[in-house]
Amino acid sequence: PTRILSGVQPSGKLHLGNYFGAIRQHIALQNTGECFYFIADYHSMTTLQDPTARLANTRDVALDYLALGLDPNKATFYRQSDVPEVCELAWIFSTVCNMGLLERAVSYKDKLDKGLEPNVGLFSYPVLMAADILILRSHLVPVGKDQVQHIEITRDLADRFNRVYNREIFPLPEYRLDAESRIPGTDGEKMSKSYGNTIEIFAEGKPLSKTVMGIVTDSAKLEDPKNPETCTVFALYSLFATPLEREQLADRYRAGGMGYGEAKKALLGQIEAYFEEAREKRKSLVRDPGYVEEVLRVGAKKAREVAKVTLELVREATGFIARP
Ligand code: ATP
Ligand code: MG
Repeated sequence: PTRILSGVQPSGKLHLGNYFGAIRQHIALQNTGECFYFIADYHSMTTLQDPTARLANTRDVALDYLALGLDPNKATFYRQSDVPEVCELAWIFSTVCNMGLLERAVSYKDKLDKGLEPNVGLFSYPVLMAADILILRSHLVPVGKDQVQHIEITRDLADRFNRVYNREIFPLPEYRLDAESRIPGTDGEKMSKSYGNTIEIFAEGKPLSKTVMGIVTDSAKLEDPKNPETCTVFALYSLFATPLEREQLADRYRAGGMGYGEAKKALLGQIEAYFEEAREKRKSLVRDPGYVEEVLRVGAKKAREVAKVTLELVREATGFIARP
């Protein structure tokens, strides 16, 4: 069967980009293949060095996923750090990875451009990601567009390892994109936890309306006709609206006489309605922390069983003896 794997970093609160780019596919795919989804807590160390925040975010990501429809009976859900074999494989991959491969990584360069101070971990992030994917010998990786290059690096490393050590241990995984693969943030750039431009999935009330009303638009006056195609508010509205609602709002943009404030209010209404059920589910999950921990514990055990087998194959292929 096809093995499907993906992860999200607990580097902040989950947002509309994570949902429409990745999580929606993750939930939909759990009815199709053998799915493994994980909370990438070791990855989050590349940009987040606050232990209290990491613990809180990790808990939040777990609650969010379960509230959004991850079914632990269908998908294996675990914390990356509960499968330490991943780090061992990452080391091994780093020794077959050319520097140039990582130097060309666009996501790394983007984070530098945004002023993040890079550490070696941020630079070698794609190597750890390759290990996440390949330790379970996964075939398909549903992600957002920003991760496509990282999957290509993963394929390169799998192929290179197989050739250097003359074994067919790793499949060459494919990526999978949702129709909406790059969601803009409140500033029009890619929505990212680490860019401070997110609309959180589970925000509500005042904080949510404040964020939505703060989306950056151009300076067209109320009476001016406006272009929906270049407007972040419209792009986000389109994620939720029916085709008819979408066309109706587009017509109002083009006609003039509608301010951006009104479009933002329409977007706000859509967000609130869309996630209402998940919000209720989340509130009931919060009351049962033992359940969430148990899901992650069982998930880690399953993932680890597979990981151990892969690592033994790798160690044998690379000239190590079985551990005592
Ligand atoms: P960070 O800023 O810490 O990198 P992030 O917001 O980019 O956080 P990740 O945890 O790195 O989130 O990514 C989780 C998943 O969400 C990945 O599959 C990624 O491709 C997807 N994703 C993130 N941002 C967007 C976006 N703006 N549009 C579509 N998909 C996205
Ligand atoms: Mg990211």
